Amino acid sequence: MSLQGTPADIVANADADLSWLEGLYKTFHRHPELSGAEEWTAARITEELGRFPDWEVTTGIGGYGITAVLANGDGPTVLIRADFDGLPVAEATDVDYASTHSQLDEQGRRVPTMHACGHDAHTTSLLGAMTLLDATRERWSGTVVALFQPAEEASTGAHRMVTDGLADLIPRPDVCLGQHVVPGPAGRVFTAPGPVLTSSTTVEITLFGRGAHASMPHRAVDPVVLAASVVMKLQTIVSREVPPDKFAVVTVASVEAGKASNVIPDSARIALSCRFYDEVLRKKCVDAVKRIVRAEAVASGCEREPDFRFLGLLGATDNDPGVFDIVRPDFDAHFGDESVDMEPWTASEDFSVLPKAFGVPYLFWTVGITPRRQWDRAERSGRLDVDIPTNHNPAFLPDLSSLPVATEAAAVAVLSCLGHEWPERPADEGEDGDRPSESDVEATSVETSRAD
Ligand SMILES: [Zn+2]
Ligand SMILES: [Zn+2]
Repeated sequence: MSLQGTPADIVANADADLSWLEGLYKTFHRHPELSGAEEWTAARITEELGRFPDWEVTTGIGGYGITAVLANGDGPTVLIRADFDGLPVAEATDVDYASTHSQLDEQGRRVPTMHACGHDAHTTSLLGAMTLLDATRERWSGTVVALFQPAEEASTGAHRMVTDGLADLIPRPDVCLGQHVVPGPAGRVFTAPGPVLTSSTTVEITLFGRGAHASMPHRAVDPVVLAASVVMKLQTIVSREVPPDKFAVVTVASVEAGKASNVIPDSARIALSCRFYDEVLRKKCVDAVKRIVRAEAVASGCEREPDFRFLGLLGATDNDPGVFDIVRPDFDAHFGDESVDMEPWTASEDFSVLPKAFGVPYLFWTVGITPRRQWDRAERSGRLDVDIPTNHNPAFLPDLSSLPVATEAAAVAVLSCLGHEWPERPADEGEDGDRPSESDVEATSVETSRAD
């Protein structure tokens, strides 16, 4: 028996000091770093891991990735991940621990940085969960892998840890766990089986026309007009090709062409962000994007084929129903009415790259962080969409009461999985970093920033 007692009972009776949680969270919050440039944050996490002498720590995995492993006798191996990068956002909260930090981005411009996605809360909570698990190790056996991941916002961090030999550095997990803070009543824990986060496909398209003097359009193949018709025609994919009861997003998020009013440029660039729950539908829509862009280029008389660059391809986060069935009753037991069903979220995550690399099942859940009074007021006035800041908004700020909840959720879920017997899985079941293959596509990893 690898558990003595229930996860809820073990966590509720843990003799652990978590009085440092808030202070450490505020320290991380004050000092956000861009994806791939988390040098200070990784060093700070490593310093905190010094408090856990029995956990074997490995740093510098795929950049600034870190693992800490506690081998505590026979039993399953459970991996739990927290990400720790920030965003190029200027914080607009009024707390005394608001970020005033800035960093150089990949173009060498100084940009303000903010933990606008709550990754500082994830990291603090995982250190908190390690404290609970460390303090209760007489009551469980097995192996816990705490994984701290950089560069989630660039969709490259998990992939780089996997391709840098993660599998050789840690014991193979039986199951992987992860969590994210979201707008919602602070301290509410949301779980669901099946697809909970979308897949994400980012496409950069270059359209090649022919440049000319602006007064001589008959001598040009105008890529500005071509880009305009491509943008409009792409809107018909979701409205005319996707079944009305299916979810799909095809957003043209960027259009760039020309620098001067008297020059017809020779090319235009558009960038798309596409989101899906269903892989078959994703392939269909990506094919439609290529078909429309190529056909519009032909219709405009382009002599050169458009160029497609697929960046940051990510699979959907599709929770294993078996892991959900194991963890959810323990969340219900520990959190009572605050353990509720999760609605699918249209955002995307690279978390699932980790379990897919090992060929093992996973569960990803969310924790609400909005102060209750603010949430209730917005809900009463029907203004949730207007008044509650989403992740990546300059006013996104976790209520401090959500920190112990995310900490306990992580510990309960790990214990829940330690108490289960997992089937043997063949070692070659994993995928190498979960890059959906596109035959005519170059999957390029993106470095979004460099250290200042
Ligand atoms: Zn984010
Ligand atoms: Zn995030």
